[in-house]
Amino acid sequence: MTAITLKPKEDIRLRHGHPWIYDNEIARVEGEPSPGDEVEIRDARGFRVGYAFFNPNSKIRARIYSRTAKSADEAFFARAFESAKEWRHFCFGRDALERGMSLRLAYGEADSVPGLIVDGFMGVPLSTGNKPHAAEEGAGSPPGLWLSVQFLSLGVEVRKSLIVKALCAVFAPDGIVERSDAPVRALEGLPESTGLLWGSVPERIIMEENGALFEIDLAGGQKTGWFLDQRANRRAAARYAPNRRVLDMFCNQGGFSILAAKAGAASVLSVDSSAEALELLKRNAARNQVADRISVVEANAFDYLRDLEKMGQRFDLIILDPPAFAKNRAALEGARRGYKELNLRAMHLLERGGVLATFSCSHSFSPEMFDAMLADAAFDSNRRLRILEERAQDLDHPIMVGYDESRYLKCRIVQVW
Ligand code: SAH
Repeated sequence: MTAITLKPKEDIRLRHGHPWIYDNEIARVEGEPSPGDEVEIRDARGFRVGYAFFNPNSKIRARIYSRTAKSADEAFFARAFESAKEWRHFCFGRDALERGMSLRLAYGEADSVPGLIVDGFMGVPLSTGNKPHAAEEGAGSPPGLWLSVQFLSLGVEVRKSLIVKALCAVFAPDGIVERSDAPVRALEGLPESTGLLWGSVPERIIMEENGALFEIDLAGGQKTGWFLDQRANRRAAARYAPNRRVLDMFCNQGGFSILAAKAGAASVLSVDSSAEALELLKRNAARNQVADRISVVEANAFDYLRDLEKMGQRFDLIILDPPAFAKNRAALEGARRGYKELNLRAMHLLERGGVLATFSCSHSFSPEMFDAMLADAAFDSNRRLRILEERAQDLDHPIMVGYDESRYLKCRIVQVW
């Protein structure tokens, strides 16, 4: 096997749990590994640190997939998926999927499958047409499990066919669709790629989350079709919704809006810049019999928050769930300004004693930066904040100590005075 020897001390971060080797940390490469090959990683004294996938075309030159297993063959991936499944069973119950729960079944490095994202959606296929009620739509169709998968590193890209086999063996899905239409693929030297990988996948399905029904678009929706990471946070935010006027900014298909309405919100205003997402939101609202309390606006959040202030609108609960503003460190200052602007405007719009559920999903924007930004926004808007809850992504997106990129979703639910 070919090997990479690190410069002195460059093994320390890896031994603390970080799985990436950057190009400037390498002393020498022995042998001639091909792109995507398995390589042994050694510290400067020649001791083994682990085994990694090699990519000569990425700044992340190698990604560790195991400390001990040499070969990343079909059996390796099957073992990794089994162990990922065990964790989900531990967190959500052994019958989570059977109960109809959709789950992230593999979360990249945090599940020992570098760059591989597998979202498993349990639901019923949506027959074509616009029937408003799930009971009619789902009638007769058996429930199924469909996997929406992203291959975001070269190591998993070159092993696609054996990964598909291992996924079939462990999860027995009805179909697998690839959604590698993510710009980060370019950093690995890979073009975007989408399409059916196995079985058949309905274009749209209806699934249940937190007791509500959602239509999702597996082939065309954003990312893998649905943001599973916010599941528990949607429930948390909805606890503050009864009898409140709610503003859901960056609402996408209505994960927060519909739950808030179902929890008894007096009104919900849902805002997003994507017309397609809002179309789905409207149908989901009808499907859950809460359409009468949800209004939908297609707008740029930054402009619209300003408009709401000009109109003198006030809210009791505001949800702010923007997309990642900082994709890397260079973008951090711009991101900080963006987050601050949004949070400051939201604080202006809240009644005294109102609740703000605010998020950042940029991994390079640390929890400390997020808290500092919030304090800054509170100061500038002359408000005081009391923290109700500090939260992260749901447990099917495990956080690995030593691998801060896995600690990406920050959630603060604060009361604003
Ligand atoms: N809250 C959602 C997920 C939000 S993802 C949920 O619970 O599922 C981020 C959303 O922000 C996407 O739907 C995207 O369409 C929207 N978006 C991105 N930039 C925007 C902007 N400038 N103004 C309004 N919406 C925007």
